Amino acid sequence: MANNTAVTVAHGDGIGPEIMDATLRIIQAAGAALDIETIDIGEKVYLAGNTAGIEPSAWDSLRRTKVFLKAPITTPQGGGFKSLNVTVRKTLGLYANVRPCVSYHPFVETKHPVMNVVIVRENEEDLYAGIEYRQSEEMTECLKYISRPGCEKIVRYAFEYARDNGRKKVTCFTKDNIMKITDGLFHKVFDEIAADYTDIENEHWIVDIGAAKMADTPEAFDVIVMPNLYGDILSDVAAQIAGSVGLAGSANIGEHVSMFEAIHGSAPRRAGQNLANPSGLLLGAVMMLVHIKQTDAASRVHNAWLRTIEDGVHTYDIYDEGVSKQKVGTREFADAVIERLGQEPQTLKAVSYKSGGETSTTSKQQARPKEKKELVGSDVYVNWQDGAADKLGEAIKGFGGDELKLVMISNRGVKVYPGGMTETHMSDQCRCRFMAQADGASIKHEQIIALLNRFNEAGYDFIKTENLYTFDGQAGYSLAAGQ
Ligand code: NAD
Repeated sequence: MANNTAVTVAHGDGIGPEIMDATLRIIQAAGAALDIETIDIGEKVYLAGNTAGIEPSAWDSLRRTKVFLKAPITTPQGGGFKSLNVTVRKTLGLYANVRPCVSYHPFVETKHPVMNVVIVRENEEDLYAGIEYRQSEEMTECLKYISRPGCEKIVRYAFEYARDNGRKKVTCFTKDNIMKITDGLFHKVFDEIAADYTDIENEHWIVDIGAAKMADTPEAFDVIVMPNLYGDILSDVAAQIAGSVGLAGSANIGEHVSMFEAIHGSAPRRAGQNLANPSGLLLGAVMMLVHIKQTDAASRVHNAWLRTIEDGVHTYDIYDEGVSKQKVGTREFADAVIERLGQEPQTLKAVSYKSGGETSTTSKQQARPKEKKELVGSDVYVNWQDGAADKLGEAIKGFGGDELKLVMISNRGVKVYPGGMTETHMSDQCRCRFMAQADGASIKHEQIIALLNRFNEAGYDFIKTENLYTFDGQAGYSLAAGQ
């Protein structure tokens, strides 16, 4: 067939091969024009000694086709095996995870009959950078990275997606009342970019109450964009409360490559029994067809699938005596969808993907004036097992020499010196903030080195330093609670 699109396909583990066969059979019967390159990923590859679960040659295929349809895989138990999903996402820069969570009332049981929410989750940053430390006997640390280009990319994607898919509103969830700098940046960028999309409503919720509202009244939301961790958790919540965790597909979009999959795992206990529901992967494949501009095939598959669900042809996981008409296996379900190609649902809303409806990825960065960055202090983290903050404060307050002064010591973010409260629990890691003797003055790196030398000479275990900067005179660091 002319104009075939090359796609890379991985059949995965557990139920993967069965649901992938069903999916490919359906989309090809619907006229999808694909040149399929098959790669091996998952358990077999892990157990052959490749800790990433993917062969080096597989990357060549992904780079060539730029489109990846992936069945779920099994990550072997035990240490040393890296999550393939995380590896693929990070290596290929798949910055946006898009997960439509739709209820199919009255055909699939749900508490939320009119739910139709798309979660757009930032996929590369936040606490998922995977940078963690043990700093002392008691203290561990995980770094949360949020960058301006990262925020701009995901937020712009969410608005473009909304526009391309006829969505009316984009909501942002953050916790910027607490994380004023990191989540604050996400929120700020959201407000800036929202201003470019006057045709789309926008709003922001603090993630805790937003999540509660979403779980209770999902019909209040349309597209929700959020940082990685909240998106990871809440996209599962949203899929589950739609009543259909086994029915949801997802897209992982990058500037170069995109990956499409079901949200569920490899369900090893169901493998090889012709039981599994292929719908999640199939809806992932529909998102792929839209992405590669084969929108007619995408609409045909999606509508035939809706009709099948509506006709009560259900796999065991959604089978319900009162509603379902026929309990089928994976293969028979695929046959039923193929039989209905060309038909539309009668009660559920039919879909019609338009050419050009695929959301183009954009890394357009906002042009911004350069800010003036000034070094104004340094936080020195020390391992301090003695408990008493006053003792530490008195011992180190001269370490700044003539140029730096000790401003405060905090423990787990709470000020404990000077004037700490006896009730505050002291862990064995303290943060000692040094700034210029003259209020508001800038300092030099060599003054920090001299400061560390004094810590070293006095026998302190300093864990790390974090410098304090201002940007155009605005503090680029948080104050301690009580400071
Ligand atoms: P799972 O999603 O595989 O299974 C959870 C439950 O849902 C099980 O009861 C299972 O039988 C059922 N289920 C899942 N998909 C189904 C389907 N299509 N049809 C019918 N029933 C279905 O989650 P798990 O059991 O926690 O994980 C199993 C394996 O999958 C683990 O090795 C895990 O690492 C892996 N996993 C892979 C991915 C991925 O590749 N994207 C995602 C999640 C989990």
